[in-house]
Amino acid sequence: MKVKKYLVRDVAEAMKMIKEDLGDNAVILSTRKVKKGGWFFGLGAKTFFEVTAVVEDENHKKQSEKPKRIGREDIYKLQEILEKNRQERLQKAITESKAIQASNNSNVTDEMEKIKEMISELKMMVISGKTTNIPPGIEKIAKSMQIHEIDNEVTSKLVEFLRMNYGDIDINNEEIEYKLIDYLRPYIKTEEVSLEGRIIFVGPTGVGKTTTLAKIAARLALEEKKRIAILTLDTYRIAAAEQLKTYASIMNIPIRVAYTPQEARMHLNAMIDYDAILIDTAGRSQKNDLQMRELKAIVDTVIPEKVFLVVSMTARFLDIKDILRKFKEVGPTHVILTKLDETNAMGPIINVPYTSNLPISFITNGQRVPEDIFVANTFELTKMVVKEVLNYARTS
Ligand code: GDP
Repeated sequence: MKVKKYLVRDVAEAMKMIKEDLGDNAVILSTRKVKKGGWFFGLGAKTFFEVTAVVEDENHKKQSEKPKRIGREDIYKLQEILEKNRQERLQKAITESKAIQASNNSNVTDEMEKIKEMISELKMMVISGKTTNIPPGIEKIAKSMQIHEIDNEVTSKLVEFLRMNYGDIDINNEEIEYKLIDYLRPYIKTEEVSLEGRIIFVGPTGVGKTTTLAKIAARLALEEKKRIAILTLDTYRIAAAEQLKTYASIMNIPIRVAYTPQEARMHLNAMIDYDAILIDTAGRSQKNDLQMRELKAIVDTVIPEKVFLVVSMTARFLDIKDILRKFKEVGPTHVILTKLDETNAMGPIINVPYTSNLPISFITNGQRVPEDIFVANTFELTKMVVKEVLNYARTS
């Protein structure tokens, strides 16, 4: 694979150079504006474009014409390049979403959520506080659950259950682990889905939709040998579609880009022969009503079999609640929790299905495609949450 950067006055000029240098198969990975020259404070500086292009080398191309066979090193190499671009895009997305937040006056709902949260915390304090004289073993568990940002309602119910049934508990006793697993298990709803037909990925910006789609695509195509295709409607971010195109070309998976819901429908009609079509969408802010309506229009047109709502485990519970409430209008069928590797708080594993009643289908735990993803399983997840809660309770 050959990657080259060009500094040009306009993108058309770059296209010409790329074609001459790298040939017709080159793909543009990113385009960004840079200012060069000028005097103090950039006065008189000229605007240029830095265009990054990539092309597979001939040997690789020949190999990829044969039935699917990719090297993981190729994906890693590509990931390094993409990661740099992603960081820039993420920064841009954060700035944009902050601007939207500032100009949006849907803060009333936020305030209501905060009040609800406070009431719930107060309830928790009453239950776990001095008034009811909570036994020390149970109190340690309750404190640890709070540290893990587990919904206070769930914690209060568990506290009541433990008090009623055991009076107090010895947190160092092995048995307690099984008691907690038994109690919390029904809260952690999961579902292993069959990945067939049209599967759309929705969610806020930067949560890992594209990466997760690539992980699932790689698994389906390379391990399960399914015939799959990708459709992207993420044309909002410069180079987002190009990134996915590059992933797809390495994995030898057909990909189409749609700029409107109508175009998406047209492409989908032409893709009926595939076992599964994975559909990427642009990250949408739950605080922007127009973006949410656009997303709903896309989902209504695509008529997907599955709608995966992708939620980052690093988000605050207050924000997760907001995301779940707003994205509900789009009709999610399952949740994918991402970035388990970046958080110590186990809360979302309980809170998300408890608040939304949606099952968790996958959990992702790193940036590597395709390794860092696993199928969600209620027993395994409950065991993990209980272990972490007990760890904190025992060592604090
Ligand atoms: P999108 O905007 O929702 O499509 O998000 P991307 O797929 O572009 O991912 C945003 C960033 O999150 C990238 O740097 C990804 O490598 C990273 N990412 C995605 N999933 C995970 C994960 O499970 N763990 C970690 N640590 N990073 C992730």
